[in-house]
Amino acid sequence: MFFFIGGVQPKTVLVDDQPKVCPICGLGQARMKRVDHYLSLFFIPLFRVKKGEPFLECPQCGVSGGPYGTGPGLRGDGTSRCPHCGYPVEATFRYCPYCGRSL
Ligand SMILES: [Zn+2]
Ligand SMILES: [Zn+2]
Repeated sequence: MFFFIGGVQPKTVLVDDQPKVCPICGLGQARMKRVDHYLSLFFIPLFRVKKGEPFLECPQCGVSGGPYGTGPGLRGDGTSRCPHCGYPVEATFRYCPYCGRSL
């Protein structure tokens, strides 16, 4: 007997099919993902109820967060920009996730 036939379930979605450069290790295989929450019934996602914040997931160092949305470490001050393309990056990043060049 089902005791959980409906509810909100998290679902990881790929935001961008194009691999990004990991800002931590520089590996060009990080993927931008997002955890959305779907209202599901009988384990079938019906519609999205909550849109998650995008984050970078690197196969080498795991989830590296990023300058996207309201991820950890993102605040107005303290955020520097890539000298090559102007993309906002965190001070701890060694590589720009947008253009892939070292900072
Ligand atoms: Zn990495
Ligand atoms: Zn850049």
